[in-house]
Amino acid sequence: MESTPCIDEFRAGVRAYIRTHLPVALRKLVESERMDIPKELQRQWHRRLQAKGWGCPGWPVEHGGPGWSDLQQYVFEREIALADAPRPMVYGTGMLGPTIMEFGTEEQKRDILPGIRNAEDFWCQGYSEPGAGSDLASLRCRAVRDGGSYVINGSKMWTSEAHIADRMFGLFRTDSSGKKQYGITFLLLDMDMEGIDVQPIRTYDGAGPEINQVFFKDVRVPVQNRVGKENQGWGIAKYLLGLERFGTAEVSRSMRTLERLKQFAHTMERNNRPLIDHSDIRYRLSQCEIELRALELTEYRMLFGSEPAGAEASLLKLRGTQVQNRILELFHDITGEYALIDGSDPGSVAHLPDSLPQAGFIARAHFNFRKTEIYAGSSEIQKNIIAKAVLGL
Ligand SMILES: Cc1cc2nc3c(=O)[nH]c(=O)nc-3n(C[C@H](O)[C@H](O)[C@H](O)COP(=O)(O)OP(=O)(O)OC[C@H]3O[C@@H](n4cnc5c(N)ncnc54)[C@H](O)[C@@H]3O)c2cc1C
Repeated sequence: MESTPCIDEFRAGVRAYIRTHLPVALRKLVESERMDIPKELQRQWHRRLQAKGWGCPGWPVEHGGPGWSDLQQYVFEREIALADAPRPMVYGTGMLGPTIMEFGTEEQKRDILPGIRNAEDFWCQGYSEPGAGSDLASLRCRAVRDGGSYVINGSKMWTSEAHIADRMFGLFRTDSSGKKQYGITFLLLDMDMEGIDVQPIRTYDGAGPEINQVFFKDVRVPVQNRVGKENQGWGIAKYLLGLERFGTAEVSRSMRTLERLKQFAHTMERNNRPLIDHSDIRYRLSQCEIELRALELTEYRMLFGSEPAGAEASLLKLRGTQVQNRILELFHDITGEYALIDGSDPGSVAHLPDSLPQAGFIARAHFNFRKTEIYAGSSEIQKNIIAKAVLGL
């Protein structure tokens, strides 16, 4: 990676600030790969970052962001991960904010951007539905125009953080007469509107609520809450989905997990020898490390090479989540029985050896992270894109 006195100084400043201002309780949750982070903790962290002007790292100065270069954002992401800090709140800062800057009216910019910047408003993303995930354009949740409102009926599925969100941006069917990409409208809703019912879905890792199904019964949304034109939300939807340039490969997070895994392999013993001294473990660890390093270089080349990446970004999502899951799988394998001990249960902590405080979260994390190969475009869909748009098959 490029290293100049300027960027080194920037990195050192970011590192120092993050490490001194990250709440300890939050670091502990991220260290154990938890995703169900309480809202107040997320808000507190966002505000500490925003006190430095870093709460919305990708935003331009005119909207209260730091106006960083791509390289500065990249370094920031890396430092956030290496410090075991969570990424800034993605739905507002990373997705809706830039979309409103691009497509919103001046009034919408004034209404929406400050709430994201100051962590007043938590947003969730209402795209997927039962029967409309990979094939998103076939969505059916209806919004029917009635005077100055749209009346919404139907449901949204797998909505992350809907149970703690204040507002939702989503896609709704306003016309079904033409091509399925036509007739979709991008609307903004308040989650406390009458007729919205959020039902948590339990994930099989057994952790706290994370995803939900959201039901709408005659929910009336003012027409002013529409972004862009009626029936033409598909272009906005695609713009928003393309915003996640940084971090899709999760290289930095995987580096941190691999670091923990190596520490663990030094501490835990098999046949009276540390795991790290066993050739089978060393081999698998080296494989993970080599794959991760190759991914890091590929990501860097795609982000900063002379040709900006287009569909090639699918390679990063595909490979990044595969590597992430491979590392967790190895972690789970070598942790053995200890991976099943829930560190948050005082009864079970007693059975954890003092030298292995980090073992208990592994089974849960391994099960939970299977999702990364599904959301934001499943691995099969990424392979389809690579086959068609990159390899031209
Ligand atoms: C933890 C989690 C959080 C999520 N959070 C959100 C959120 O906040 N907001 C939101 O809107 N959505 C969210 N999603 C939904 C996510 O985007 C969808 O799950 C994803 O797009 C897949 O859609 P689906 O679940 O309907 O599966 P389907 O599309 O039905 O796919 C089922 C299987 O078939 C495969 N498949 C489908 N089509 C093809 C094809 N053409 N070729 C080859 N294989 C194919 C898929 O890869 C998959 O293995 C979340 C999902 C998860 C798991």
